[in-house]
Amino acid sequence: MKLKIQSIDIDFHQIVENSLNAIWILGTEGEILYFNKACMKLLKLTSPEDILSKKLYTFLPPDIHAPCKERLIKVIETQAILESIEAKMIRSDGEVIDVEVRTVPYHLKGKVYAQVIMQDITQRKIAEKLLNDREKLASLGQTAASIVHEVKNPLTSVKGFLQLLKESQSHSYLDTMESELEKALETLQNLLLVSKPNLHDEPFVSIALGKELESLLFLFQEKLCNMKVELNVRDAERTVVGKRSLLLKAFFNLIKNAIEAIPDKGMIEIEHYYENGWVHIKVRDTGVGIAEDKVKLLGTPFFTTKSDGTGLGVTQVFTTINEHGGGVSVQSVVGEGTIFHIRLPAE
Ligand code: ADP
Ligand code: MG
Repeated sequence: MKLKIQSIDIDFHQIVENSLNAIWILGTEGEILYFNKACMKLLKLTSPEDILSKKLYTFLPPDIHAPCKERLIKVIETQAILESIEAKMIRSDGEVIDVEVRTVPYHLKGKVYAQVIMQDITQRKIAEKLLNDREKLASLGQTAASIVHEVKNPLTSVKGFLQLLKESQSHSYLDTMESELEKALETLQNLLLVSKPNLHDEPFVSIALGKELESLLFLFQEKLCNMKVELNVRDAERTVVGKRSLLLKAFFNLIKNAIEAIPDKGMIEIEHYYENGWVHIKVRDTGVGIAEDKVKLLGTPFFTTKSDGTGLGVTQVFTTINEHGGGVSVQSVVGEGTIFHIRLPAE
């Protein structure tokens, strides 16, 4: 269609072809009658033949075929403009992406089709999740800290009275009670430390993590005899700014978990490198792995699958790395192993 504005011919086809949004014209069965260049980019396709003669469903996860069909029928039959929704699409490389979809009627030669406009919102979803995780952690930390204060005070006073009692009486139970109380107080203190790393008055200093990782590994020397350990430090001179003991504790926790994940023989690989303003550290193990439904529980205080675990190690890692403006991502396959990928802003 051409429109004349101030004697310039506007070619709408060109505008649509070069739009950043993916635009499709579809029939009720999802048959593709038109698509613009952005559709190919969205799906990482290189030639138009990859789309021609296909139905849109080819690129949708099976669970949204039915709702998609419903929307197409609705827009074509009622000619209503539908509310935008979020959906998923499968790229040619198998990656599943998030898209925002708007569906409107499209009239052509007396017939009605559906015009579907899509925007890739994968990055936005990742950012939202990160923010959400951070907020969850922060509020978890606050709740944990306030519970700890409430519970610690009465326990400390019980401990005081117990000590007074021990001065005047002796009973074997009293010692047991005292040591159990100490354990409870220690757990509470640990919870406070991991959920509120900011409580530490440690100063921020320049840290070359690449060099620190080597000395950290020495601490595990005895435990590492059954394992192959590879430390691959590139860009060792790069530094981050942070609280040294907190950051080292975080990497200590990651290495400890990697070792504990390997039941018999296996391999641990620690990688350090700099890229695009970030210092990256990957801790990879060939251990038992983490089931998919458990991955999202990582970072929750007291989540543990070990009989003698505390479930506070990963919480400390998440809170510390977040407090330092970094990020943590976890990839794991049961029976194959786990990778913890940490990034921290480089100095
Ligand atoms: P803990 O080690 O005391 O159990 P953590 O907070 O350090 O507590 O870890 C929580 C849980 O996360 C572990 O019990 C384990 O199930 C899982 N986990 C953490 N790191 C790994 C890893 N590298 N491989 C497999 N599972 C892991
Ligand atoms: Mg641990």
